Amino acid sequence: MPINDKPRRPRPKLITSLLLFLPGLFLLANLILPALSGPRIPRVPYSFFIEQVQDQEVARVSVGQEQIQYQLKDEADQPGQVLQTTPIFDLELPKLLESKGVEFAAMPPPGNRWFTSLLGWVIPPIIFVAIFQFFNRRGGPQGALSVTKNKAKVYVEGDANKVTFADVAGVEESKAELQEVVEFLRSPQRFTEIGARIPKGLLLVGPPGTGKTLLAKAVAGEAGVPFFSISGSEFVELFVGTGAARVRDLFEQAKKKAPCIIFIDELDAIGKSRNSGGFYGGNDEREQTLNQLLTEMDGFAVGDKTVIVLAATNRPETLDAALLRPGRFDRQVLVDRPDLEGRLAILKIYAQKVKLGDQTDLNAIATRTPGFAGADLANLVNEAALLAARRGSLTVDNQDFAEAVERVVAGLEKKSRVLNDKEKKIVAYHEVGHALVGALMPSSDRVEKISIVPRGMAALGYTLQLPTEDRFLLNEEELRGQIATLLGGRSAEEIMFGSITTGASNDLQRATDLAERMVTTYGMSQVLGPLAYDQGQPNTFLGEAGMNSRRMVSEQTAKAIDQEVKDIVETAHQQARTILTQNRDLLDKIALHLLHQEVIEGDQLQEWLSQVQVETDSLNNHQPQAELVEV
Ligand code: ADP
Ligand code: MG
Ligand code: ZN
Repeated sequence: MPINDKPRRPRPKLITSLLLFLPGLFLLANLILPALSGPRIPRVPYSFFIEQVQDQEVARVSVGQEQIQYQLKDEADQPGQVLQTTPIFDLELPKLLESKGVEFAAMPPPGNRWFTSLLGWVIPPIIFVAIFQFFNRRGGPQGALSVTKNKAKVYVEGDANKVTFADVAGVEESKAELQEVVEFLRSPQRFTEIGARIPKGLLLVGPPGTGKTLLAKAVAGEAGVPFFSISGSEFVELFVGTGAARVRDLFEQAKKKAPCIIFIDELDAIGKSRNSGGFYGGNDEREQTLNQLLTEMDGFAVGDKTVIVLAATNRPETLDAALLRPGRFDRQVLVDRPDLEGRLAILKIYAQKVKLGDQTDLNAIATRTPGFAGADLANLVNEAALLAARRGSLTVDNQDFAEAVERVVAGLEKKSRVLNDKEKKIVAYHEVGHALVGALMPSSDRVEKISIVPRGMAALGYTLQLPTEDRFLLNEEELRGQIATLLGGRSAEEIMFGSITTGASNDLQRATDLAERMVTTYGMSQVLGPLAYDQGQPNTFLGEAGMNSRRMVSEQTAKAIDQEVKDIVETAHQQARTILTQNRDLLDKIALHLLHQEVIEGDQLQEWLSQVQVETDSLNNHQPQAELVEV
């Protein structure tokens, strides 16, 4: 873990502090002090004042350079009102006042007030500085109000907890690329002697939790060099200008310790494209920080000092182009989610830390967790261990992992959410509808569990389908099968209750998305042909589906696409209805059990699902007729 390498703690200098708090002081002096100095005196026009003098309503006047305060004559039972006005240069005033018998005097010199306002400017800073120092001391190295202090954490060589490549699994290709960086750091001469330029910056790109931070630490650990780590979001905070100062500081420190690694996590926090505009557009602070970073990266070309800057981001597309230029982060290493083998390797790493039961089958768990990143798997093992402990077991067994997978997948069980009986019945039929249709569809996903115990925020019930293997390619039949399965829930509601609830909206959304992608991305429509009608997604590995915008198409084509999407969904809908109508008895039977038991899984479920049957003819009519339309 991070050891703070004698963190340099520059004492916030009194002067800097004072400067920083000037705006605060200004506010204080202007708003708060006047408010404290008593009730406000009504201000009237000068002419009004003269009139009152001439009407002999004024008792006494004190004349200052900037204002005149005066008191009206006493009424029957109370002292006269005090008013003020702004004087004009009026030499006749004393004569006038004298002639009307008004007491008058010059205002007392502002010494008194000058003193209070001086206090106003001096005391608050002292208080601020005191608070500042207090937090600094309290917060230790992570002081809450530290301004220019660098928060980089330093991992030092020989650290007992040092991370190596052995701690990172499932990202073998990325490791291979980073091995080269380790060589650069270990023996830079080998490269410089033949005139090779050692790359300065390397960008780790990949979805969250895939081990980018871990890999960067492992590079430092392998090379046995210090590792300065700071997160992009930590640069940009509190005060304008501090981000740039921090960057400067960080590089200065690093150069002293070369060879070493600087690791900037969440680079996108400072490296956002400068012309990205929008809400964050024109963020001066971020821009300054970015500029400083670019300057520093250009600056340290010096021969034997090997400082390699690693950075991580999960949104490379948002980065400013200047960051990616040669000499900066010109190399990118993709750190992607692990495949089956990778997941198994990661599970093995974390399983060493818990006591596994003899029967526990990590391979099966890896199979059930496609799409999980390293962090999810680490979390999964921990979650399973917690469940085992809660159960009073001494070892972590398959059942714990099974439940942990569900938890991670679907959010924690919320037993407290109660449905009324009618709703429960609808949800039960809905879920069984999904399951029955899913059981018949050509797909590698097996229905594992049906439940009407609400989970997470939205789902009232759920049907858990887990893949039996990693799939990268799905064929048209399988996609159509998925769409039909998604529509199974709604179809069951239609058949059973003749009405539809709002519960199916998420299903419909996903079904429509899939159908649209079949037509516009995968070219699976026979009517529209193998053309990609969307603009493509450069970063599909980030799982950012749904952002696809359509290519410019003619109105006719757009219509044809819509028609085709609708056809696919509608065909799937009919298919689902056919299956459910033909298996009506089974639907009722399972739904009743589900209402009673709340959860159906395992052998019992498989036994029932294997009974689903359908006359094949009635399904085959979904093949789209190959009618050709000019597009
Ligand atoms: P990222 O920086 O990509 O968001 P992290 O490196 O912070 O992900 O990963 C968080 C945690 O998840 C790590 O500390 C580690 O415990 C675990 N982890 C993530 N990926 C892996 C991996 N490939 N191998 C082993 N552990 C991993
Ligand atoms: Mg990270
Ligand atoms: Zn549903």
